[in-house]
Amino acid sequence: MQGPEPEMVDLLVAGAELVATVDDERREIVGGWVAVDAGFVHSIGGPGDPAPPARRTLRADDCLVTPGLINTHHHIYQNLTRSFRPAVNGTLFEWLTTLYPRWARLDEEAAYVSAWVGLAELALGGCTTSTDHLYVHPRGAGDLIGAEIQAARELGFRFHPTRGSMSRSQKDGGLPPDSVVQTDDEILADSERLVAAHHDPSWGAMVRVALAPCSPFSVTPELMRSTAELAERLDVRLHTHLAEDPDEDTYSEEVYGRRTIDHFDDVGWGSDRSWVAHCIYPNDDEVKRLGGWGTGVAHCPSSNMMIGGGGLAPVAELRAAGVPVGLGCDGSASTDSASLWMEARNALLLGRLRLGPQAMGARDALEIATRGSAGCLGREGEIGVLSPGAAGDLVCWPLVGIPFAGALSDPVEAWLRCGPVAARHTVIAGVPVVEDGRLVAPGEEAMLARHRVISARVQAPID
Ligand SMILES: [Zn+2]
Repeated sequence: MQGPEPEMVDLLVAGAELVATVDDERREIVGGWVAVDAGFVHSIGGPGDPAPPARRTLRADDCLVTPGLINTHHHIYQNLTRSFRPAVNGTLFEWLTTLYPRWARLDEEAAYVSAWVGLAELALGGCTTSTDHLYVHPRGAGDLIGAEIQAARELGFRFHPTRGSMSRSQKDGGLPPDSVVQTDDEILADSERLVAAHHDPSWGAMVRVALAPCSPFSVTPELMRSTAELAERLDVRLHTHLAEDPDEDTYSEEVYGRRTIDHFDDVGWGSDRSWVAHCIYPNDDEVKRLGGWGTGVAHCPSSNMMIGGGGLAPVAELRAAGVPVGLGCDGSASTDSASLWMEARNALLLGRLRLGPQAMGARDALEIATRGSAGCLGREGEIGVLSPGAAGDLVCWPLVGIPFAGALSDPVEAWLRCGPVAARHTVIAGVPVVEDGRLVAPGEEAMLARHRVISARVQAPID
């Protein structure tokens, strides 16, 4: 007797050297395949398991297949001022004050084009979900975050824009010029508008919005508090920069009489609704408190080495304390490159630099870039893992050619120790966004030409 016809799935990724599922059992399947249907992982198997028939097959020969990497901290618009010469050797605060007047030139076209280019760059580097933290909203600039979401939809990218904000300008003792800050009422009203227009709480959502004052020192304590209350009411997540530079604690102690993480908790942010960027300078007690709150940390290794005030984030201690630690490339004007492969490799190197070779392996870095990042975004089990029912987001990394010659024994360690490597295929919700190393969406050349014109305008000298 014949059984029923096996159901046809949308996509089969077949013939991998190894599938690293990063699932609850951390299964690694030699010669594995992954089937994706209707945007979600349908099934996973090895050479002995019959794969379902598929409408489309992508070959993953010689590839390590992982869940798509997740970027938990970025300022995409900053790719308009990459490696900007007048700012490159400043401290964080000097760098910001040089760039704010340029960023005041942002408009909808700039937000759209920079997001298109920035998300494409991330996809080419094996990222399938990214946040963005856009906190510069010049007066009259239009709907910048709406423009970014448009770019993400066109590329098929899973996107978590965060509604950034600044309310303390130079006249209030802050760093930015008056033209790029807004009142608390303007910020809260626009936050609510964006969540109503774009936030999708459903499983497998392509767009989720979070609320994100730039940092506890760039907005008033009242705005920190009312943003946390609004996030609670709308059931969305909270994001900000925290403990990135020793200047921040000095500032916080002068202005609020509190260490910056105490202030963060005072204004209602010590919670599992929050994830913060950097967190280089928590003391031992603060590490424990962050773990107790369940507040996530976006570890941004390249950015920290480039501009973070000379410290190394205590990643191992944070993870041991139960903090969800994810990975972030941070804004392109500090990191200048947006490759999560490189961030994962730098996380590996920094982890070993801090605490020795036992402290971190490639599997830890992969876990931070997938499960840890998903924890920061409140999407554990949904993204950052290859298991049936999870989002159909995966990357095929080709471990081939001269950089991988001789790397025979452990494809996961080879992935970060050898290289550099970019994605052969990047699949988001079952749809290839990068195929054979090239962006699938049309229009790359034209978009780069637009980006060049806008960058030149933004970087022009200030009168
Ligand atoms: Zn940042």
